[in-house]
Amino acid sequence: MISIKLEADLHMHTIACGHGFSTVKEMAEAAAHAGLKMIAITEHGLAMPGGPHAYFYESLQRIPSVLFGVEILKGVEANIINVHGCLDMSDKFLNNMDIVLAGFHAGTGVDGLTIDDYTAAMIAVLRNPYVHVLVHPGNPAFPVDFDKVILAAKERQKVFEINNSSLSTSRLGSAARCSYFSRLIKKYNANVVINSDAHIFDEVGKCKVAVHLAMENGLEDKHVINTSVEKVKDYLYLHKKKLQQNLILPA
Ligand SMILES: [Zn+2]
Ligand SMILES: [Zn+2]
Repeated sequence: MISIKLEADLHMHTIACGHGFSTVKEMAEAAAHAGLKMIAITEHGLAMPGGPHAYFYESLQRIPSVLFGVEILKGVEANIINVHGCLDMSDKFLNNMDIVLAGFHAGTGVDGLTIDDYTAAMIAVLRNPYVHVLVHPGNPAFPVDFDKVILAAKERQKVFEINNSSLSTSRLGSAARCSYFSRLIKKYNANVVINSDAHIFDEVGKCKVAVHLAMENGLEDKHVINTSVEKVKDYLYLHKKKLQQNLILPA
């Protein structure tokens, strides 16, 4: 079996998030050493305790587009803050991002809901034209009905993430759920991204456990968007075009 090889790591945090340990420069340098061609800096949204202030996002585009030969996308990991799928970042901010990740996090308004609530919220987020990736959907703290959300994602041409940190350092208990949704991704011929969710330079591009899980459950290069920078760019461009059409045409 040919191994899945990633060219981009689309989810990571720096010192700006309040619980990260490296700078943008250090993350980019580590990415170059890891042989990556692209990374996305995706700090937590405004509802995350200790996270960046709105001023940070207003200045985000000051980050160079290329560092150490690595393309840098500027994005956010927005928090889903209620059952309606509202995010903690306004459209004004999301519109200025190269990439928008969204997910459930403890302490940001969605603790203790039901599986039906989380499923409804996630489907609503998939309909948000600014959102590109649903992060760490395997987190057992926020269970969803995978059959429903994966079909909704496929319909909207959106992707889920297999998050390496969920399988190694945080969100323990995610593995079985990640395996389950990976098999559904294969069944429905949908797509995923595989990311490190690095919080320190040493973790950039380290996705071995997630890649292994994906392959074990039948996923191949063709299912994984970030095996090629071109595929990532095509994916982001597709949604940019859709967004422009949405803004022009009535719903
Ligand atoms: Zn997260
Ligand atoms: Zn993260």
